[in-house]
Amino acid sequence: MSIIVAATKNKHKIREIEQITREFGMDIITRDEAGIPNDIEIEEDGTTFEENSYKKAYGIMKLCGQITIADDSGIEVDCLGKAPGVYSARYAGVDGDDADRANNDKLMEDIRNFPYEECTGRFVSVITMVFPDGETISARGEVEGHVIPEERGPNGFGYDPMFIPLGYDITFGEFDPEEKNKISHRANALVELRRLLQERAAR
Ligand code: IMP
Repeated sequence: MSIIVAATKNKHKIREIEQITREFGMDIITRDEAGIPNDIEIEEDGTTFEENSYKKAYGIMKLCGQITIADDSGIEVDCLGKAPGVYSARYAGVDGDDADRANNDKLMEDIRNFPYEECTGRFVSVITMVFPDGETISARGEVEGHVIPEERGPNGFGYDPMFIPLGYDITFGEFDPEEKNKISHRANALVELRRLLQERAAR
């Protein structure tokens, strides 16, 4: 497997992708290492995770000419009509370093009056790999659970402290990072990506 550029700037996502893909022999480098200037942003104006994931991977591949993967992810909460969904990163209208804090505060506020049973939801990750000739492989992974109106646990990032995966009674924020990487939406997407790559290699 050749070197693959990760289109994301999110260090948490890169760390998780590296940890998971290491096991299947992929060598991930950052956009920085691929020589992409830090100020280049790919606009995420799609209405689905698939669209945004493709936009990011294709945009960065065009700039570096190497195989690129992108993750577009978010959380869907059923009592909120699946919001914030694709808008998870800017749910509170803030961008940048403070976004996670503001997003979690808004989500806690929005679900506060719903009973626990109605706060089912899922993390979704769509990982797209784009090759220099334009060939594209896309894989979706999900993890079902409940979203709670409080934060528990110091681990993970983003909405992790508010999410209890199905079958557990602790949040992703309380999970050991390695354990999260075994069952997460991102892990499920990457396992599916590996399956699609194996299928492609066998053609
Ligand atoms: P994007 O994929 O960069 O558009 O943003 C994803 C949004 O969902 C960000 O607000 C992340 O913090 C959040 N998110 C994505 N994956 C995870 C995860 O594994 N744990 C917690 N939050 C996540």
